[in-house]
Amino acid sequence: MPLYSEETIQQLKEAADISIVIEQFVPLKRTGGGKYLGLCPFHNDSHPSMNVNPHMGIYKCFACGAGGNVFKFVMEHEKMNFPSAVEFVANTVGFPLPKLTQTQDIHYEEKDLIRKINEFAKDWFKEQLAKSDSAKSYLEQRGITEKTKDLFEIGYAPQSGLLLAAGKNGFKPEMIVKAGLAAEKDGRAIDKFRERLMIPICNFSGVVAFGGRDLGGNSPAKYMNSPETLIYNKSEILFGLNKSRRAIPKEDSVILVEGYFDVISMFQSGVENVVAISGIGFSDTQAKLLARYTKTAYISLDGDEAGQKATERCIEVLLAQSFSISVVNLMSESGEKIDPDSLVMQGGAEAFRAHQGKAKNWLNYLADKTKLTSPDEKAKFVERTKKLIATMNNAELRNQYLNLLKERFGTSVSLPVFRPKPQAEFAQNTDEIHWKSLPSIEIWLVNVILKNPDLQSTAIQICDPSLLSSRWLAELLDYGYALYEETGKIELRTLYDKLPDTHKDLLTHLPEKPWTKEGAVKEFSNAVLKLRISRLKVELKTAREDFERYKEIQSQIKHYEDLEQRAKDGEDILKFLY
Ligand SMILES: [Zn+2]
Repeated sequence: MPLYSEETIQQLKEAADISIVIEQFVPLKRTGGGKYLGLCPFHNDSHPSMNVNPHMGIYKCFACGAGGNVFKFVMEHEKMNFPSAVEFVANTVGFPLPKLTQTQDIHYEEKDLIRKINEFAKDWFKEQLAKSDSAKSYLEQRGITEKTKDLFEIGYAPQSGLLLAAGKNGFKPEMIVKAGLAAEKDGRAIDKFRERLMIPICNFSGVVAFGGRDLGGNSPAKYMNSPETLIYNKSEILFGLNKSRRAIPKEDSVILVEGYFDVISMFQSGVENVVAISGIGFSDTQAKLLARYTKTAYISLDGDEAGQKATERCIEVLLAQSFSISVVNLMSESGEKIDPDSLVMQGGAEAFRAHQGKAKNWLNYLADKTKLTSPDEKAKFVERTKKLIATMNNAELRNQYLNLLKERFGTSVSLPVFRPKPQAEFAQNTDEIHWKSLPSIEIWLVNVILKNPDLQSTAIQICDPSLLSSRWLAELLDYGYALYEETGKIELRTLYDKLPDTHKDLLTHLPEKPWTKEGAVKEFSNAVLKLRISRLKVELKTAREDFERYKEIQSQIKHYEDLEQRAKDGEDILKFLY
């Protein structure tokens, strides 16, 4: 049974500008003819591939094929059912909907109620702040202005009272518990947040949780957050993003800070491209969320041990999303660590920008903080860094970092450092696979890696996708590696589900080339060697003007050709390929 009449849906579809709805989530650029282009949120998009056509009311990604109308976008993006998506679109464009009588999502009503309770609580906390001298003087003491307080809708939870006030407005205690604002004790509900400054945590549709800063001094926990609820999943939200999402694409960079007050103070000082990671568990989902707005990140967390760990975690997660990453080290001249909050409170935005100007790229940051005196320590570091570099999707960035590693440690670069221009038949942006042009050695290699679990961890280290001359096979292998990084294996059905249609086709029709269990490693090493040699020979042609480089490539080729001979003589050469 349809929940809204077909007529209502049609009217809404006509009234809703799809570009305005999509802009709630993804920044769009006008491309002429009234159309828009943006980063596609449904695949790991590095160049804007999603077209939005307001006249037709549709979106279409030419990379992954995702597409549809405005409701489909909201449903897929927000994981909503149809009625919720209809309501979301109607709210966004200010379209009056008739009353809904029935709903299929069993959680829908509960989610909706939790949203309403959070909104109610936010307003109530704001009222309480106005009445609390101690809370007001705390904000004053931190230098938070009236304007900033209003912008972030900061409130105050007194000793008690929310349950009572919410009850008077028809919210039942058990729902307030479910919303995370009350706790159960001895069979009855009690206020969860007491004598705390309350900072609303918002997604793009409103308040989903709160962070509470202790003001009473009676609690061992300085900060307490709402627990996860039906509408609040910690790993899917970044504090501040609902406010900074316009500034981030404008600056084309994001600054990651630790806590609520870092974001709030930075905003007050005029640095608006900032989000807080709130804790050490920076997630892939959060990185992907950020990747829609920019690919440049400045990490500016505390310099203590926990902060350093969190910084490393951020580096790992952001690298896999092809971010270019710098670490802003906040130290005073006397060597004391400072947090962004106190820095901008004292010196304003310029003080932060000055430190940002001296930010180190992630590789130098890691190298500088690691003890690297003995050859063993250096080797270990290089090994680890190479693994990190191998997770990067962007071939050019990979090359840059490999070169940096080489400059700094004089190490030989065993991941390939050169990606040739696409072959002629791929030069136009064709979306068809030219089966005949797929080199048979590359087909064999991709088959053996994807379908032979014993080889996968080795392959990731020594067979970089950019070695392959076929763009299709290289991309397929990239997808496979990404899955391996995520799950520790390449399960073909899972891989299939993650692939865009063209690559699905490639995977299912990949010609089988046989290998034997005993022979696989040997053949694999030989194939990798062959590809490295032919890659180097291409590179040699472009290096004629740089004599040093030319000589170096020549000697690498010689080295690999020697290995080829030793392999022919029966030696196991795999270990030389790392
Ligand atoms: Zn896409």
